Amino acid sequence: MTDTAAWLQRYDAAYMPNFGPPKRVLVRGQGCRVWDADGREYLDLLAGIAVNSLGHAHPAMVAAISEQIATLGHISNLYTSPWQVELSERLDALVTTNAPGTEARVFLCNSGSEANDTGFKLTRRTGRTKIVAMEGSFHGRTVGAVSLTAKAAYREPFEPLPAGVVFVPYGDVAALEAAVDDDTAAVVLEPIQGESGVIVGSDDYLRAARRITTEHGALLWVDEVQTGIARTGEWLAYLPSGITPDVVTLAKGLGAGIPIGACIATGPAAVLLGPGSHGSTFGGNPLASRAGLTVLDVIEADGLLAHVREVGDHLADAVMALGHPEIVEVTGRGLLRGIVLAHDIAAAANDRAMEAGFLINAPRPDRLRIAPPLIITTAEIDTFVSALPSLLEG
Ligand SMILES: *Cc1c(COP(=O)(O)O)cnc(C)c1O
Repeated sequence: MTDTAAWLQRYDAAYMPNFGPPKRVLVRGQGCRVWDADGREYLDLLAGIAVNSLGHAHPAMVAAISEQIATLGHISNLYTSPWQVELSERLDALVTTNAPGTEARVFLCNSGSEANDTGFKLTRRTGRTKIVAMEGSFHGRTVGAVSLTAKAAYREPFEPLPAGVVFVPYGDVAALEAAVDDDTAAVVLEPIQGESGVIVGSDDYLRAARRITTEHGALLWVDEVQTGIARTGEWLAYLPSGITPDVVTLAKGLGAGIPIGACIATGPAAVLLGPGSHGSTFGGNPLASRAGLTVLDVIEADGLLAHVREVGDHLADAVMALGHPEIVEVTGRGLLRGIVLAHDIAAAANDRAMEAGFLINAPRPDRLRIAPPLIITTAEIDTFVSALPSLLEG
């Protein structure tokens, strides 16, 4: 038996069957590469689902996290720390980039679902209980977050869920106009729907959502858990639209692998969760806060926003230039990309990619998703593009 087979057998006996069988057993990573238990090497084009923004074992992360755990790792929220305060200030400033000076406040937690549960509880404090969410949405798996998630298979086995959530077609301004009324607490949407296949909501759509929610005194809540922190070549994917949401949630790329989530609220929404109304034991501890600060510093110092735009556009152009009959379109922005296929062959192509040494995924039967570390080079991308035709045939 190979080492991989032995580990998978033990996993199968020890772990809940909720995920289905893992495809590989990974033991090491460096930059944009990972190695499995049998010594096979992979180019990591998924980055732990848009999490490992600085790749694996980035020297700045290794240095900062090592120093932090040797200094002060965890303290609880009975106390604060310089790192928590600094990260909070920087996230508040990022979220209000389009309206500098607007009040903003953060709550730090440990995952995207927790950030969204925070947003959910915050909307309940408006005195209204109706939330308008989107078809095709993914907001996480906790009870609160899954109630905002459209996919019936994720929600229905766990009903009854928190009440008041209605779903409308994503990108449809008229449907949003019709659904939002004076009883609506919030509209929640992703600027790009990642889990349902990298579907982009336009800047016009975001502006319409801002206008409609404002007209009805409802909150606009933008879930940037997957799209935020340079993934699309912008600090936040909504920034080019010019809007400022009332609530923004972050997680995945913010900690580059150290678990962290953030819910940032602006204007009057910033103080809706009063003393005693919410909490987290681990949230915003010095270790996770330092991770977030380090990610922001490296993105700035290494010019990663421009790099992501450049490499992401190169990826999209090079994939389309293949002129392959199976490739219909490349969606997304920056380094969050969907490759739309003419047939439902994404799962098979994903398996072939792994055999060929590339980690990607297939969020839909006809779609591949690419979300590599933000530090990936054009040359690394090109090795995948060259291999892509062979992954689509067989
Ligand atoms: C991944 C994701 C979540 C859930 O984050 P977890 O850390 O898995 O709880 C929420 N929203 C979006 C848009 C996501 O992509």
